[in-house]
Order: sequence, then C-alpha cells, then structure tokens
Amino acid sequence: MKNDTHIIVVDDEESLRNLLSSLLTDNGYLVTAVSSAEEALGLFEDKHYPVVLTDICLKGMDGIELLEKLNKLNEDTQIVLSTNNASLDTVLPALRAGAYDYILKPFDELDQITAVVNRAMEKVRLLAENRHLVEQLKISNQSLSEHNNKLQEMAIQDGLTGLYNHRFFQESLAKNVSLANRSGLSCSLVFMDIDHFKNFNDTHGHPAGDEVLKHSAKLIANDLRVSDLAARYGGEEFVLLLPGTDKTGALILAEKVRQKFESHPFPGGESQPLGKVTVSIGVATFPDDATETEELLAVADQALYKAKEQGRNRVCAAGQD
Ligand code: GH3
Ligand code: MG
Ligand code: MG
Repeated sequence: MKNDTHIIVVDDEESLRNLLSSLLTDNGYLVTAVSSAEEALGLFEDKHYPVVLTDICLKGMDGIELLEKLNKLNEDTQIVLSTNNASLDTVLPALRAGAYDYILKPFDELDQITAVVNRAMEKVRLLAENRHLVEQLKISNQSLSEHNNKLQEMAIQDGLTGLYNHRFFQESLAKNVSLANRSGLSCSLVFMDIDHFKNFNDTHGHPAGDEVLKHSAKLIANDLRVSDLAARYGGEEFVLLLPGTDKTGALILAEKVRQKFESHPFPGGESQPLGKVTVSIGVATFPDDATETEELLAVADQALYKAKEQGRNRVCAAGQD
C-alpha cells in the first residue's frame, strides 16, 4: 500500500467509522479512523496525510476547525466533510473554509463517497505533480538563462584572452564616436602590437606565445576606468577605447602600458630581439586627429606603424613627427 493513499477518517460514531474504513480499504486505500478532531490533528504531528474525511459535527473541535488547522499545516491536504445537513448554511462555510467537497449522511450511496475521495486523492496527486513540474521548469529556466548569458558573453569576448573581441570593439567605437560628437568630449584610441612576436612563437612555440597573449591582456586591462574598453583587435594586436579621455591622458596611459610590458618578466622574453617582450603603441584622439570612425582607426594604425619604424617599444601619437 502506498503511503500517499493513506486516508484519515474522523467520526465519533463507531459504526460510521467502520463503514467508511471498510469501504475505503476495499477501494485500495490505507485508512486510519479516529473519533475526534484532536486525535486526527495529533496524527499530523508525525507526518502529513493527503486526504481527511471528517464529520462536521464533533465533540470538542469540530470538523471546520480541524479543516482550518489542517489547511494551515499543509495546503495540499484535501479535506472532505460529512454532514447530516445539506443546507447551504452548513455547506457553504465549509467550502469557503477550503473543504474539497462534502458527503451527506446517512451514507446511502457508497459509490459517491469513493468517487469524492478518489477525486480528492487525484487532486493531491496533481498538486504534487504540478509542484514538481514548476520546480523542473525553474531549474531548466535557470540553466537556459545561464546558457544565454554564456552565449552572449561568448559573442562579445575573445576566447583566448577574455578581452572584448574585434566585432564588439568596432560596435563600441562607432557608438562612442557618435556620443563624443554630440557631447563635445574627446575619445581616444590606443593601438598596441607586440614586437617581434613571430620570433617569440618561432623560438618558444605557439602555446608559449598564447600564454604571452593571455598575460598581455591582464597587463592591458588592469587599472582601466569603468568606461574604458580593452579588446583584442586581432593576432597580437590590442586596442583600448577611452571615452572622455583626451590626447594627453591617452598618451600617459599608453606610456604606462608600454612600461608595464617592458618591466614584466615574461618567461622567454630574453630571446626577443630587444631582450624582452615589448609593445609598440599608436595613439589617436577624436576629434583632434579624425572626425570619422574609419579615419580614427587609420590614423591610430599609422601612429603604431610609426612606433614600429622608429625602433619599437615606444609610443607614438597621431600627427606627431
Ligand atoms: P612586429 O614587431 O613588426 O609586430 O613583428 P611581429 O613578429 O610581431 O609581427 P608579424 O605580423 O610578423 O607576426 C605576428 C605573429 O603573431 C605571427 C603569428 O604567428 C603571431 N600570432 C598571431 N595570433 C596569434 C595567437 O593567437 N597565438 C600565438 N601564439 N601567436 C599568434
Ligand atoms: Mg601585428
Ligand atoms: Mg607584432
């Protein structure tokens, strides 16, 4: 016999208790019959039962009071009331108080009693199933939204370094240039390229090169303002987008980054042509150097090229000789 088909019968007339017990037992239920509401309530101290069939008129605590107490204990428990009186005055308050249904005494139509109990039991089962489904839904909703967040992150992140990717940088650049245009504030670009990186890969292998790239990302992204954005532009090239930062500010930051690379003890750096892993940097500022996105990118790139030409491991500003 399954525990979840256990019914409590409450009636102070022994003959009725016996009648209901044998009827419900014959219908496959496990039945515990008691003569008072107090006893029934006592049973719930140890565990909860799905269905209670109780007389409304009882000495001491009556059926409605029992119903209210049981509802507070477990809102899934279904209470079926039995009454001598089918008048609305008796039945309505019982149903309002949360009774599942009622059956009329004397118990002439036994089939109806089992039908009501079966339905009450089915409701308990559906409530439990529903709760289970809601829990399952919550779990799958949560994993779906975690999945979505991850996908969104992946769409804007560079897989190796965790910095923003090229596409996201381009979108942000366009937005920030248009914002700077309206606000009249500056917006600077700091373009960086690791020097002689091919040599590093050739000497130490591609995986070691990847480690340099990952660590470079950390050096670059440290100490940025919340509004600043660091992205991997491609290969061993990185870019900082600095909204609201003018040329002077951008050059100071660029020089700080250059020094961070120069002084960082990258393993294997000693075999580089300059004796360490270094970066060359080009800086360009909107609107000083360009008033269009593409043009700003081009002049920043030219400044970087100039830094390479002049010997690498240096910062050059657009428009500077
Ligand atoms: P320069 O100072 O002129 O920039 O010299 P360079 O060797 O850095 O420049 P070049 O463009 O000749 O070579 C870039 C190298 O960067 C070649 C390529 O193998 C390496 N590289 C690009 N992307 C990655 C990457 O994701 N991982 C690794 N390990 N290496 C990369
Ligand atoms: Mg390059
Ligand atoms: Mg390079």
